Amino acid sequence: MASLYPVHSCHECEAEAAGRCPTCRHPLCIDHFPRHAHAPCARHLAQHHDEYICYVCGAEVVPEQWSTAVFAHTIDAHACVGCNRYICDAHTRRTDEQVKIVQDGLRSHRYHITARSCALCAPLRGAGGLVGVSWWVAGFVTVVLAGWFLYHA
Ligand SMILES: [Zn+2]
Ligand SMILES: [Zn+2]
Ligand SMILES: [Zn+2]
Ligand SMILES: [Zn+2]
Repeated sequence: MASLYPVHSCHECEAEAAGRCPTCRHPLCIDHFPRHAHAPCARHLAQHHDEYICYVCGAEVVPEQWSTAVFAHTIDAHACVGCNRYICDAHTRRTDEQVKIVQDGLRSHRYHITARSCALCAPLRGAGGLVGVSWWVAGFVTVVLAGWFLYHA
């Protein structure tokens, strides 16, 4: 008998998929959801081992993600949300717990995301971190230039 509710099956096995990996976007079952448990993320972790280090002290960081239920997932990328660099626990100045609800077919998934900020980005968190600030500055410069041209035209 065909299932009433079409559900994705896991990218790695035949089991019913739980969440989607935030990195590779593959639907995965609870067992294969951790990054080291499925391709291509496991391969990337192994091959780029030396890139997963804290940018301040060089300590090894391990991005973590796991499913607590078919619809509930926890993700800690171990990277600063402001500058996207990997950061260890000791150099994480601030962590914010974010909950993201994602509708996938008929089911909604709850992703608990640990948003880390490094010492540089923590004070700027309200402005969106380093990346956010540079965009803001770029916008400001554009406005000033536009004003200058209008004035001298
Ligand atoms: Zn699986
Ligand atoms: Zn993945
Ligand atoms: Zn560190
Ligand atoms: Zn940062």
